Order: sequence, then C-alpha cells, then structure tokens
Amino acid sequence: MRVVICGGGVIGACTAYFLRRRGVDVIVVERTDIAAAASGKAGGFLARDWCAGTPLDALARRSFALHAQLAGEIAGDWGHRPMSAYSGYVAPDGDPRRNTQSALDWLSDGVVIAQRIGTAETTAIVHPRKFTLAMMKAAIADGAELRHDRVIGLVRDADGTRAKGVEIDGGIIEADAVVIAMGPWSLLAAQWTSLPAVYGQRSPSIVYDLGPNAPADALFLESEIDGEAASIEVFPRADGSAHITALSDIAPLPLDPMAVTPDSDAIVRLQAMSERLSPLFRPEMIIAQQACFRPVTEDGLPLIGRIPQSEGLYVATGHNVWGILNAPATGEALAQLIMDGVTRDVNLAPFDPGRLQPLDPSLLRAR
Ligand SMILES: Cc1cc2nc3c(=O)[nH]c(=O)nc-3n(C[C@H](O)[C@H](O)[C@H](O)COP(=O)(O)OP(=O)(O)OC[C@H]3O[C@@H](n4cnc5c(N)ncnc54)[C@H](O)[C@@H]3O)c2cc1C
Repeated sequence: MRVVICGGGVIGACTAYFLRRRGVDVIVVERTDIAAAASGKAGGFLARDWCAGTPLDALARRSFALHAQLAGEIAGDWGHRPMSAYSGYVAPDGDPRRNTQSALDWLSDGVVIAQRIGTAETTAIVHPRKFTLAMMKAAIADGAELRHDRVIGLVRDADGTRAKGVEIDGGIIEADAVVIAMGPWSLLAAQWTSLPAVYGQRSPSIVYDLGPNAPADALFLESEIDGEAASIEVFPRADGSAHITALSDIAPLPLDPMAVTPDSDAIVRLQAMSERLSPLFRPEMIIAQQACFRPVTEDGLPLIGRIPQSEGLYVATGHNVWGILNAPATGEALAQLIMDGVTRDVNLAPFDPGRLQPLDPSLLRAR
C-alpha cells in the first residue's frame, strides 16, 4: 500500500508519521519546505479542554495527550512544555489602572491579569516548526520519502472513480491513496475533485528572543491600538522565543506559499502593542516579523476524511487556530481510516468533507 500526502505542514507530517507506524509506503510531496507556511509560523499553544462542548473536543483531548506522549517517544527537542495561561487587558492611556503593578512580574505596569485560564495540567506549548520537522524526520527515519515538488493534479483510474496518484511538475507519482493536506492551498484541489471551499485567514506575528528564562505564561489580552480594540496573544516558548500575534486581516492568498508576507502597517502596530506589554519586548530582541494563513472552512470545523465519490482520496485541512494542537490525532485517525476503514480513537463524523457543498471549480481562476 502506497499513500501520497500532498503538503508538508504539520498535518501532512503527522499523517506521514502515523501511516509509517502502520507500515505504509509513504511519499510526502511538499512544494517549498517542511513547515514553510503556518505550521512553521504559528504560536504552538496547546489546550486540553478549550474545545469542550464543541465537535472538536475529542480530537483536541486525544491530540493533547498524544503531544505529551510523542515528546517522550520521538528523537528531537521541540520544546514541549506545560504552561499556565492568563486572560486580562492592557489599561488604556489615562486609565488609573495604567500605573497598577501587573500580577506577573515580567509584565509592565498596566497589564492587568484578570484570570488564570490554563494550568500546567490543561495547557502546554511546542515550537511548531521544530515539532513539524521532528515528526517528518521520524517518518523519514522509519522509511517515508519526502519529495520537493508541486502537486498540480490527480491521476485517476480509467473510469475516473478511483485516485491512482498525483501529477506533479516533475511527472506522476502512482499511489493507492492520496491525502490532500495543503493547508489553505487545498482550495486548489477543488479543481481536481469535489471538495468544499477552504479559505486562508492571514495573521501577522512578531517573534522575540527572550533568552533562557522565557516565562511559561501564555497571555490572552484585550488591548487598544489607534482607538480600536484588539485581542493579542503572547506565547513564550521553551527555546526562549516568544510569539506574539494580533490584528488578523483578510488578504488574497498568494498561489506560492513563499510569497506570503505581512502587511507592514500591521507589523508596526503589533510591535507598538507588544512594547506596551513588557520591557522584554525591545526592538533589538526581534528575530522574526512574519505572517501566515490559517486554513478555515465555511462552518469553522476541519475537513478530515474520505472525499465523497472518489475512492482512495482523502483530505485533512481547515484546522483554523488549532492545527498544531490537533495534528497528532488527525494523523492517527487518518492512518486508521485509510488502513482499517474505521477510526478507533476519534470519531471523524463531524469533520466528514461530505457535510458541506463542494466548491464550484469554475470559481477558481485557471492558474
Ligand atoms: C499567527 C498564527 C498563530 C497560530 N497559532 C496556533 C497555536 O498556537 N496553536 C495551534 O494549534 N494552531 C495555531 N495556528 C494554526 C496552525 O498554524 C494551522 O492550523 C496549521 O499550521 C495548519 O497546518 P497545515 O498542515 O494544514 O497547513 P500549512 O502549514 O499551511 O501547510 C500546507 C503545506 O502545503 C504546501 N503546499 C501548498 N501547495 C502545494 C502544492 N501544490 N504541492 C505540494 N505542496 C503544497 C505548502 O508549502 C505548506 O507547506 C496558528 C496560525 C497562525 C496563522
């Protein structure tokens, strides 16, 4: 059995790892580099039960447990560590609370901590790029193959009902099953098969180097910039890098993942917001100013499972803000579905691609 996985983000890498554990012949086709897109530029924050009461709950809980397990199982250090999480707000100029000392000693006066919303039992973090690379490296060490190429189409059998591989710039790769895991670029696969729409939501981020004593405190803060309210998220990681993001916007998805850039005005505003949070966020400590597109679907839930009316064709995308968290259980469940026809640990029914109308391919302009 040979499976081709289109896309080497966190979803593709985890799927490759779990398929290899089942002894499947795996080829990952990645257009640029492993973790070149959102999977390398995310925060990496993980929460066990923040999806409680939603269809994502079982996937998130299983993934949270797998993240802890994988950290002990696979070679490499991607900084998996439990952490606390807090909500609060940044007191605006002129507000008397502007001079109040923060409850967390690494934060500036006026950063008001309202509530502890995660503990070392319920919240954790990984470095997402290092995690994705480690999963791919483990899959390769176990026999998976990585090809740097661009998937441009599907190969089907004579009557068109079964996927037989993929077309790439460099030729054809034959396979018994194909998994589409190209993040927001999975949209392009709607030209080749009946797939619901997947959109890209852009977010800028700044990464600071805090050195060896980066606090294990994630922050979810309400702030104000130029008279507008904004939510800002701060994720210090075990390797000393701290990822700060806010100010998501709507922007066209570039066809080439390497062409994704942040809006320069958004970066200037995000830097100004960051500098109000802590004296640690000084301009000379900046190590990256970037943006990425997270994949979203019409109902906000991922697409994970078999694509209707196509034998041997699967999709795993649309993980939105929880792709790093939910990648391990997604990969595990897909490997079970492909090999056994059913899943054991997580019920994929809420994520069935058949629940949404397929995108009309004529809406996609010819590339
Ligand atoms: C600012 C920000 C912060 C985030 N923070 C968190 C967080 O703290 N926790 C969390 O759980 N999630 C977080 N996320 C969400 C998470 O990053 C995404 O859900 C996840 O990375 C999506 O992974 P993916 O593998 O589906 O897609 P991607 O990472 O986009 O990977 C898709 C891959 O497919 C490749 N590709 C595209 N087209 C082709 C082609 N034609 N042929 C071959 N390959 C192709 C691309 O090059 C890319 O490498 C965040 C997202 C953003 C934007």
